[in-house]
Amino acid sequence: MANTGGGKLYLVGLGPGGSSHLTHAAVAALQDCDAVVGYRVYIDQAAELLEGKELVAMELGQEMERATKAVEMAYSGRVVAVVSSGDAGIYGMSGPVFQVLTDLGWDGDNPPVETIPGVSAMQAAAALLGAPLMQDFCAISLSDLLTPWDAIRRRLEAAAQGDFVVALYNPRSRGRQWQILEARKILLQHRSGQTPVGIVRDAFRPGQSVTITDLEHLVDHAEAIDMVTTVLVGNSTTYLHQGHMATPRGYEGKIAGQPQDRSQPPPAAP
Ligand code: SAH
Repeated sequence: MANTGGGKLYLVGLGPGGSSHLTHAAVAALQDCDAVVGYRVYIDQAAELLEGKELVAMELGQEMERATKAVEMAYSGRVVAVVSSGDAGIYGMSGPVFQVLTDLGWDGDNPPVETIPGVSAMQAAAALLGAPLMQDFCAISLSDLLTPWDAIRRRLEAAAQGDFVVALYNPRSRGRQWQILEARKILLQHRSGQTPVGIVRDAFRPGQSVTITDLEHLVDHAEAIDMVTTVLVGNSTTYLHQGHMATPRGYEGKIAGQPQDRSQPPPAAP
């Protein structure tokens, strides 16, 4: 598709909630664009910043349609901001936009694509819980709408075995209720029932709630987990203190500053 010139795509992360967690760069991109494409709820949330812009609001599930529309508009010379909650590059709109561009044989430069990173849900949740992401961690989406459950199960098993702190996105919806319970079972195969679990709903939005429990008692809270919730599961060293969840910076026995011979790789495990 030929570019008539002047078009541009911004991929903008809006952060978890209100404008206080929106970056200056995101505000600048929203000011610079002619049109904003996004899920209706996020467009409504950012309404005060979007005055005078052409708004293309679509429903959940229409990600490819949104991406196609945005790319078409950019090719026709418009400056378009595609918005996602959190970070657009984490389970957001960046993937569909790159997919559409790739399918159209995009040359990598025209239209230019600029991504504005945002605060993702797991960072927002971690900030509200304490300091849970201090060692290696991973994010796993429990949505099997786009990923087969078998792949999700294998990732959960690997994360459990690898003692990663795990951020569970898309943990439960009206149509997907057993996945969080299944995830708990898999994690329990490698972690104790006392492993701290933080449940953060609507982080930095009205109605925000923060619950701390453990893997054993996660079942008691399953009903309260939904699509605006992120669940953080600690690793074997994560602990609770005065209502906060924290993972120490290093494993016990590792003393910061202690000289260690790193000139050779350690021997392989038997
Ligand atoms: N791009 C987003 C993630 C979109 S996937 C990001 O980077 O945060 C949607 C999932 O994100 C939800 O099901 C939920 O698990 C999580 N989420 C998004 N916003 C949230 C918030 N304010 N509080 C808690 N979880 C949130």
